[in-house]
Amino acid sequence: MVKKPSELGGIYFKTLDERDEYIRLLLDKSQRVLEGQELALVFDLLLLHPDANNKIGTGVKQIEVKPSRQRTDYNCFWVVREDGTIDDFSYQKCKYNLDRLIVKRRESAYREAVVNQTWEYRFVQTNSKQVCEICGASQGLQVDHDQPLFSTLINDFEKNRTDIPKEFEDATGTYLSKRFCEKDSEYQKSWQQYHQQHAVLRLLCKKHNLTRKRKEES
Ligand SMILES: [Zn+2]
Repeated sequence: MVKKPSELGGIYFKTLDERDEYIRLLLDKSQRVLEGQELALVFDLLLLHPDANNKIGTGVKQIEVKPSRQRTDYNCFWVVREDGTIDDFSYQKCKYNLDRLIVKRRESAYREAVVNQTWEYRFVQTNSKQVCEICGASQGLQVDHDQPLFSTLINDFEKNRTDIPKEFEDATGTYLSKRFCEKDSEYQKSWQQYHQQHAVLRLLCKKHNLTRKRKEES
Protein backbone atom coordinates (compact mmCIF):
# COMPACT_ATOMS: atom_id res chain seq x y z
CA MET A 1 0.00 0.00 0.00
CA VAL A 2 0.94 3.64 -0.29
CA LYS A 3 3.11 4.58 2.66
CA LYS A 4 3.36 8.36 2.53
CA PRO A 5 0.76 10.89 1.49
CA SER A 6 2.42 11.84 -1.80
CA GLU A 7 4.52 8.77 -2.36
CA LEU A 8 3.57 6.21 -4.95
CA GLY A 9 5.71 3.20 -5.78
CA GLY A 10 8.72 4.79 -4.06
CA ILE A 11 8.49 8.05 -6.00
CA TYR A 12 7.95 11.12 -3.87
CA PHE A 13 5.97 13.97 -5.40
CA LYS A 14 6.29 17.49 -4.03
CA THR A 15 2.88 18.54 -5.30
CA LEU A 16 -0.23 16.86 -6.58
CA ASP A 17 0.24 18.64 -9.93
CA GLU A 18 3.68 17.09 -10.23
CA ARG A 19 2.20 13.65 -9.63
CA ASP A 20 -0.60 14.22 -12.17
CA GLU A 21 1.95 15.35 -14.75
CA TYR A 22 4.15 12.31 -14.18
CA ILE A 23 1.24 9.95 -14.73
CA ARG A 24 0.01 11.86 -17.76
CA LEU A 25 3.47 11.48 -19.37
CA LEU A 26 3.58 7.82 -18.41
CA LEU A 27 0.30 7.27 -20.27
CA ASP A 28 1.33 9.42 -23.25
CA LYS A 29 4.32 7.22 -24.02
CA SER A 30 4.03 4.17 -26.26
CA GLN A 31 2.06 1.00 -25.61
CA ARG A 32 4.07 -1.28 -23.36
CA VAL A 33 4.24 -3.71 -20.48
CA LEU A 34 5.21 -1.73 -17.37
CA GLU A 35 8.39 -2.59 -15.47
CA GLY A 36 10.48 -1.37 -12.55
CA GLN A 37 9.50 1.92 -10.91
CA GLU A 38 6.65 2.61 -13.34
CA LEU A 39 5.14 -0.75 -12.47
CA ALA A 40 5.54 -0.14 -8.72
CA LEU A 41 3.78 3.20 -9.04
CA VAL A 42 0.88 1.95 -11.14
CA PHE A 43 0.43 -1.06 -8.87
CA ASP A 44 0.03 1.30 -5.91
CA LEU A 45 -2.55 3.21 -7.94
CA LEU A 46 -4.44 0.01 -8.69
CA LEU A 47 -4.68 -0.73 -4.95
CA LEU A 48 -6.46 2.61 -4.54
CA HIS A 49 -9.04 1.85 -7.22
CA PRO A 50 -12.56 1.78 -5.69
CA ASP A 51 -13.05 -1.66 -7.25
CA ALA A 52 -9.49 -2.92 -6.65
CA ASN A 53 -10.46 -6.43 -5.50
CA ASN A 54 -12.39 -7.19 -8.67
CA LYS A 55 -9.79 -5.53 -10.88
CA ILE A 56 -7.06 -7.70 -9.34
CA GLY A 57 -9.20 -10.86 -9.32
CA THR A 58 -7.02 -13.99 -9.41
CA GLY A 59 -3.86 -11.89 -9.19
CA VAL A 60 -1.89 -9.48 -11.35
CA LYS A 61 0.39 -11.05 -13.95
CA GLN A 62 1.34 -7.78 -15.58
CA ILE A 63 0.15 -4.21 -16.11
CA GLU A 64 0.20 -2.63 -19.56
CA VAL A 65 -0.32 0.79 -21.07
CA LYS A 66 -2.51 0.65 -24.18
CA PRO A 67 -5.54 2.32 -25.75
CA SER A 68 -8.76 2.35 -23.75
CA ARG A 69 -11.88 0.47 -24.86
CA GLN A 70 -13.85 3.65 -25.38
CA ARG A 71 -11.23 5.84 -27.08
CA THR A 72 -8.54 4.30 -29.26
CA ASP A 73 -6.54 7.57 -29.27
CA TYR A 74 -6.30 7.55 -25.50
CA ASN A 75 -4.16 5.19 -23.40
CA CYS A 76 -5.17 3.75 -20.07
CA PHE A 77 -3.87 1.03 -17.74
CA TRP A 78 -4.68 -2.62 -18.34
CA VAL A 79 -4.39 -5.46 -15.82
CA VAL A 80 -3.50 -8.87 -17.19
CA ARG A 81 -4.52 -11.40 -14.54
CA GLU A 82 -2.95 -14.71 -13.66
CA ASP A 83 -5.85 -16.52 -15.36
CA GLY A 84 -5.27 -14.58 -18.60
CA THR A 85 -8.31 -12.31 -18.36
CA ILE A 86 -7.81 -8.57 -18.82
CA ASP A 87 -9.44 -5.40 -17.54
CA ASP A 88 -8.71 -1.70 -17.82
CA PHE A 89 -8.61 0.99 -15.15
CA SER A 90 -8.25 4.77 -15.23
CA TYR A 91 -6.09 7.07 -13.16
CA GLN A 92 -9.07 9.34 -12.49
CA LYS A 93 -10.86 6.67 -10.45
CA CYS A 94 -7.77 5.89 -8.34
CA LYS A 95 -6.92 9.54 -7.95
CA TYR A 96 -10.15 10.31 -6.17
CA ASN A 97 -9.34 7.79 -3.44
CA LEU A 98 -5.74 8.92 -3.25
CA ASP A 99 -6.72 12.56 -2.69
CA ARG A 100 -9.20 11.45 -0.08
CA LEU A 101 -6.56 9.36 1.64
CA ILE A 102 -4.21 12.35 1.80
CA VAL A 103 -6.91 14.57 3.29
CA LYS A 104 -7.83 11.93 5.88
CA ARG A 105 -4.22 11.34 6.94
CA ARG A 106 -3.61 15.03 7.32
CA GLU A 107 -6.79 15.55 9.33
CA SER A 108 -5.82 12.62 11.53
CA ALA A 109 -2.57 14.32 12.56
CA TYR A 110 -4.45 17.49 13.49
CA ARG A 111 -6.90 15.46 15.55
CA GLU A 112 -4.17 13.53 17.31
CA ALA A 113 -2.60 16.80 18.42
CA VAL A 114 -5.75 17.96 20.24
CA VAL A 115 -6.94 14.67 21.64
CA ASN A 116 -6.10 15.78 25.21
CA GLN A 117 -8.16 18.92 24.79
CA THR A 118 -11.24 17.00 23.69
CA TRP A 119 -10.84 14.42 26.46
CA GLU A 120 -10.53 17.13 29.04
CA TYR A 121 -13.65 18.79 27.68
CA ARG A 122 -15.60 15.54 27.86
CA PHE A 123 -14.39 14.84 31.38
CA VAL A 124 -15.44 18.27 32.68
CA GLN A 125 -18.78 18.27 30.86
CA THR A 126 -19.87 14.77 31.81
CA ASN A 127 -18.95 15.48 35.45
CA SER A 128 -21.27 18.46 35.38
CA LYS A 129 -24.06 16.21 34.00
CA GLN A 130 -24.21 17.60 30.47
CA VAL A 131 -26.29 15.60 27.97
CA CYS A 132 -26.55 15.16 24.17
CA GLU A 133 -27.53 18.54 22.80
CA ILE A 134 -29.99 16.99 20.34
CA CYS A 135 -31.78 14.19 22.22
CA GLY A 136 -30.81 14.57 25.88
CA ALA A 137 -29.08 11.17 26.14
CA SER A 138 -26.58 10.96 28.99
CA GLN A 139 -24.72 7.78 27.98
CA GLY A 140 -21.88 7.25 25.52
CA LEU A 141 -21.29 10.92 24.89
CA GLN A 142 -18.71 12.06 22.34
CA VAL A 143 -17.14 15.41 21.66
CA ASP A 144 -18.24 17.16 18.49
CA HIS A 145 -16.88 20.31 16.86
CA ASP A 146 -19.75 22.71 16.50
CA GLN A 147 -19.31 25.59 14.00
CA PRO A 148 -16.62 26.00 12.79
CA LEU A 149 -16.25 22.41 11.62
CA PHE A 150 -12.96 20.68 12.34
CA SER A 151 -11.96 20.82 8.67
CA THR A 152 -12.70 24.57 8.60
CA LEU A 153 -10.51 25.11 11.68
CA ILE A 154 -7.63 23.35 9.92
CA ASN A 155 -8.05 25.37 6.74
CA ASP A 156 -8.23 28.67 8.62
CA PHE A 157 -5.17 27.79 10.69
CA GLU A 158 -3.16 26.82 7.61
CA LYS A 159 -3.99 30.07 5.81
CA ASN A 160 -1.40 32.05 7.77
CA ARG A 161 1.29 29.37 7.77
CA THR A 162 4.13 28.85 5.35
CA ASP A 163 5.50 25.77 7.14
CA ILE A 164 2.62 23.32 6.67
CA PRO A 165 3.93 19.76 7.15
CA LYS A 166 3.72 17.44 4.17
CA GLU A 167 4.62 14.23 5.95
CA PHE A 168 3.26 12.62 9.08
CA GLU A 169 4.28 9.76 11.32
CA ASP A 170 2.27 6.65 12.07
CA ALA A 171 0.42 7.31 15.30
CA THR A 172 1.09 3.93 16.85
CA GLY A 173 -0.61 3.32 20.18
CA THR A 174 -3.54 5.61 19.42
CA TYR A 175 -6.78 5.15 17.50
CA LEU A 176 -5.70 7.72 14.95
CA SER A 177 -3.61 6.83 11.92
CA LYS A 178 -1.13 9.74 11.78
CA ARG A 179 0.56 12.27 14.03
CA PHE A 180 2.85 15.24 13.45
CA CYS A 181 6.56 14.42 13.14
CA GLU A 182 8.98 15.42 15.90
CA LYS A 183 10.49 18.15 13.70
CA ASP A 184 7.06 19.83 13.45
CA SER A 185 6.56 20.13 17.22
CA GLU A 186 6.52 23.96 17.10
CA TYR A 187 3.89 23.82 14.38
CA GLN A 188 1.90 21.38 16.49
CA LYS A 189 2.09 23.70 19.52
CA SER A 190 0.74 26.62 17.49
CA TRP A 191 -2.11 24.44 16.25
CA GLN A 192 -2.93 23.32 19.81
CA GLN A 193 -3.12 26.96 20.91
CA TYR A 194 -5.22 27.88 17.90
CA HIS A 195 -7.58 24.99 18.57
CA GLN A 196 -7.87 25.95 22.25
CA GLN A 197 -8.92 29.47 21.28
CA HIS A 198 -11.17 28.80 18.30
CA ALA A 199 -12.79 25.39 18.65
CA VAL A 200 -16.39 25.35 19.90
CA LEU A 201 -17.01 21.94 21.40
CA ARG A 202 -20.21 20.25 22.44
CA LEU A 203 -21.35 16.82 23.57
CA LEU A 204 -23.43 14.56 21.36
CA CYS A 205 -24.49 10.97 21.84
CA LYS A 206 -22.77 8.45 19.58
CA LYS A 207 -25.72 8.24 17.21
CA HIS A 208 -26.05 11.99 16.66
CA ASN A 209 -22.30 12.48 16.40
CA LEU A 210 -22.13 9.88 13.61
CA THR A 211 -25.14 11.29 11.76
CA ARG A 212 -23.51 14.66 11.80
CA LYS A 213 -20.13 13.34 10.57
CA ARG A 214 -21.79 11.65 7.62
CA LYS A 215 -23.39 14.96 6.67
CA GLU A 216 -20.02 16.68 6.88
CA GLU A 217 -18.43 14.18 4.53
CA SER A 218 -21.14 14.19 1.91
ZN1 LIG B 1 -28.39 12.32 20.79
